Amino acid sequence: MSAKLLEGKPIAEKIKQNLKQEIASLKSKFNTTPTLATVQVGENPQAAIYLKSQKKVAQELGIEFQEHPLAATLTEEALIDYIEKLNHDKNVTGILLQLPLPAQINAKDIPIHINPLKDVEGMHPENVGQAIFGKMRIGSCTALSVMELIKSTGVDLYGKEAVIVGHSEIVGKPVSLLLLDKFATVTTCHIATGQRGYLPTHVKRAEILVVAVGKPGIIQGEWVQEGAIVIDVGINRVGDKIVGDVEFEKAFERASFITPVPGGVGPLTVTMLMKNLVEAFKLQQK
Ligand code: NAD
Repeated sequence: MSAKLLEGKPIAEKIKQNLKQEIASLKSKFNTTPTLATVQVGENPQAAIYLKSQKKVAQELGIEFQEHPLAATLTEEALIDYIEKLNHDKNVTGILLQLPLPAQINAKDIPIHINPLKDVEGMHPENVGQAIFGKMRIGSCTALSVMELIKSTGVDLYGKEAVIVGHSEIVGKPVSLLLLDKFATVTTCHIATGQRGYLPTHVKRAEILVVAVGKPGIIQGEWVQEGAIVIDVGINRVGDKIVGDVEFEKAFERASFITPVPGGVGPLTVTMLMKNLVEAFKLQQK
């Protein structure tokens, strides 16, 4: 058996078509344009690539895109003050903080200072809390992309064994919550699982496997259960290639669906960001 490829681009295109129409009708109904303000502290070549693709998608959809470049020496307090200003700016619908941040700023301290109705990355505790109650309004773009990819397979998640490897705030934890909300039986693995040597045991049980670690090939292809759905979130540069966390060739032979890296989760995340922005716009009009 070999898997079907789960590519992000066609799903992103469909979502973008719907968003484009929705944005056009929101603009004419409220006579204002949804606006994304992105804040970048210092310069980073990786962040510059993301920024460029965010700008392109925003323009494509009719979203106003504001760039706020700030000095690399900015203090955490000054960044929080700047975010406060954007929170109160009536022209700004959503605030996006580009990562990485310079060492003097702790990225985990910032989301609580973003107005939860403008938190287009779904990282404010209020938005995370909504997910716990199964009422998510705005959520982690990567986690939402993972859920869209799984949804596209048509699988019924009820009672399925879902194994998530990685427990970050941005991917592993929100994906675990979202799958739990669909009544999957969820196991979340992390560094300690790996260190105790239990990773293969859990992965072999997975009917749905989501991996977000950042270590190339950490999931061996032979651990993948026949017929499993495999979502590889990892992005690793190996030489001049980008690879995921799963040994692709072997896993491809065993899975029913598998995401390529690049081309799986990545192309969807910017679209989910814009979907969050539209959600934020609608919440602010209420
Ligand atoms: P992170 O670095 O915050 O966390 C890594 C996770 O992996 C932690 O939960 C850690 O406990 C776990 N881990 C580390 N070593 C392990 C081991 N040996 N066994 C089991 N678990 C182990 O991760 P993140 O920010 O969620 O990113 C993970 C990967 O996903 C990275 O490669 C990142 O580039 C990628 N990513 C991709 C997208 C996208 O849009 N495609 C978005 C976000 C992150």
